[in-house]
Amino acid sequence: MSAPRSPAMDHARAVVERIGRLREERRAVILAHNYQRGEVQDIADFTGDSLGLSLEAARTGARVIVFCGVSFMAESASILNPDKTVLLPVLEAGCPLADMIDAPRLREWKALHPGRPVVTYINSSAEVKAESDVCCTSANAVEIVESLPGDEVLFGPDRNLGLYVRGRTAKRLILWEGYCATHAWVTAGEVLAARRRHPAALVIAHPECLPEVLEVADHVSSTSGMSAFARSSPAREFVIVTEAGILHRLMKENPGKRFHLASTRLLCPNMKRTTLASVADALERMRHEIRVEEGIRVRAARALERMLGTGRGRAGAEE
Ligand code: SF4
Repeated sequence: MSAPRSPAMDHARAVVERIGRLREERRAVILAHNYQRGEVQDIADFTGDSLGLSLEAARTGARVIVFCGVSFMAESASILNPDKTVLLPVLEAGCPLADMIDAPRLREWKALHPGRPVVTYINSSAEVKAESDVCCTSANAVEIVESLPGDEVLFGPDRNLGLYVRGRTAKRLILWEGYCATHAWVTAGEVLAARRRHPAALVIAHPECLPEVLEVADHVSSTSGMSAFARSSPAREFVIVTEAGILHRLMKENPGKRFHLASTRLLCPNMKRTTLASVADALERMRHEIRVEEGIRVRAARALERMLGTGRGRAGAEE
């Protein structure tokens, strides 16, 4: 006997059907970041990390891309796909980490350290990317830093990712003092408490976490790296130290395994702004279109494409 249906379930089903109709009418593709709500991930054509999704966007024949994520991700998709219409369902979905640096402050920083190459995390605005030599992701940051000439590198805006890279390269990293509040609030004490609650679990942490958290983890990786690690590991149980949305993907991909979030604070409010209703509205009203001014776009594309051209850059493209 099937479970009784509630009015809320009927409404959700109607919204999903509306999205399906509009997706066809608009010949659109829907991309969802790993940190999106589960129901948004479920209606997406592709789920993944920020730049992996941009690469997916570049491959698609669709003219319209609905990017379920935050603004810098939709910008990156638009930078790499200037001939396509990129829609961000909720215009206010920003990234506080990306907002911790802007182009004027980056220019001042560069002036203080002339001649040093600038490596900028993909979690940054188009203007900041345009001022950078090369972008990186959490998966390829070490390799990108190593690929640059000279002994010193300016690295921003995420300090914790920079500290993680610093421990894996002989180069001297000069760090910008930004952080992701979602990741940086988690303490090693919380992770150790989660370990005590789940003694059989392996702990997997994202490099945006504090160094003290990474020290008590069994494995450190980006979101796609977590997915690959969980799939291939013989372990049956994991404590996850990154944004809660990734659990939806991990549980779907590994039905026999168990995943626990290290802390209830691992929630990015901006990532959770996008709902099924906002995706349907975006498709119906063709809003909010994200476009980058051409002069900035060309320079930002150079930094992104340089990353993609560096060894594992393309394979490791993720937040
Ligand atoms: S999880 Fe952190 S880095 Fe990612 S979008 Fe949210 S605030 Fe930005």
